[in-house]
Amino acid sequence: STTPKQPPTPSPLRFSKFFQSNMRILVTGGAGFIGSHLVDRLMENEKNEVIVADNYFTGSKDNLKKWIGHPRFELIRHDVTEPLMVEVDQIYHLACPASPIFYKYNPVKTIKTNVIGTLNVLGLAKRVGARILLTSTSEVYGDPLVHPQPESYWGNVNPIGVRSCYDEGKRVAETLMFDYHRQHGLEIRIARIFNTYGPRMNIDDGRVVSNFIAQALRGEPLTVQSPGTQTRSFCYVSDLVDGLIRLMEGSGTGPINLGNPGEFTMLELAETVKELINPDVEIKMVDNTPDDPRQRKPDITKATTLLNWEPKVTLRDGLPLMEEDFRLRLGVDKKN
Ligand code: NAD
Ligand code: UDP
Ligand code: UDP
Repeated sequence: STTPKQPPTPSPLRFSKFFQSNMRILVTGGAGFIGSHLVDRLMENEKNEVIVADNYFTGSKDNLKKWIGHPRFELIRHDVTEPLMVEVDQIYHLACPASPIFYKYNPVKTIKTNVIGTLNVLGLAKRVGARILLTSTSEVYGDPLVHPQPESYWGNVNPIGVRSCYDEGKRVAETLMFDYHRQHGLEIRIARIFNTYGPRMNIDDGRVVSNFIAQALRGEPLTVQSPGTQTRSFCYVSDLVDGLIRLMEGSGTGPINLGNPGEFTMLELAETVKELINPDVEIKMVDNTPDDPRQRKPDITKATTLLNWEPKVTLRDGLPLMEEDFRLRLGVDKKN
């Protein structure tokens, strides 16, 4: 004779969770630059549980070390091109290399990440009824013929160029988001992020702000890619994260531009980095890469009116915060 099995006791934790309306949030690409800052902000709210899924292609566990072992935090080594089964209320879908040298390294993989990866995460959102936010990019505007760029602009993108795996990949990802919304009623949010900078960027990832700061600290020439008159608008990462959370919590689907409208030529950026970080370095002109957009500046009317959001940190205030982090990681002391 065997003793009958007792039914499992309901977990008091899950029960109380139900009444506290805790939020379980998946962040794909959460070990990367923007993702790890987003996780820091989400973890500050004690009602949030955060799950990060990342394959560590460009991200690292180091970016999340303060949360590893925390009871409200989980880290999964996972490639989004494979199906993922978790139960969550919200998804921030960031997984995708963002720097040109990394997204061009294996372009087919970049497309798979944008297309199959986004499809899988949408399938997950559909199954569990989660709200999903995609981090799209200002690159969907290509080499824009409208300046500054409003969300209504359809873009000027080369479909067969070396950047296409990224910008066309993100354009398909946006299409998939809207088709799941129209066809399956999913709650979607799309952010079009303009160039963002801050601590934890990969030191040698090839993006312009990280390149110039690392070069200035190493005493190497600042490499301005010709002609140097091309412009970008740089947003500090804390402002960006604030915009992403407002978009997720707000009611509109987007797409919505998130970026800092302060516009600089690459020569101006080099002059500013030189002045603030190391007046002794040279500025050197080097060859550019194909299809480099000549100008880029967000029209943020939608973000200011719909999300009551605008960036607060200027380039001159943000660069020294990034410099501090790069000094620590490169082991370069401040000169007096
Ligand atoms: P990042 O490279 O630091 O982070 C991307 C993260 O995604 C990394 O942790 C990487 O390991 C992970 N990842 C890549 N492919 C993956 C895959 N197949 N499966 C699972 N994880 C994968 O880049 P970031 O600057 O933090 O960018 C984050 C997101 O924001 C990206 O979607 C990017 O396209 C978007 N974005 C960034 C900027 C910017 O200026 N930084 C601008 C526009 C859009
Ligand atoms: N998917 C996933 N996790 C889930 C549910 C779905 O990764 O929890 C993947 C699934 O493998 C599929 C994709 O998401 O490839 C799209 O799912 P959907 O249900 O929309 O389409 P279908 O499976 O019917 O093709
Ligand atoms: N750039 C530069 N020097 C560098 C790296 C980039 O002058 O060492 C320029 C590049 O030509 C482009 C701009 O900086 O015009 C921004 O490049 P990044 O790769 O940072 O971002 P994206 O092209 O994706 O906006």
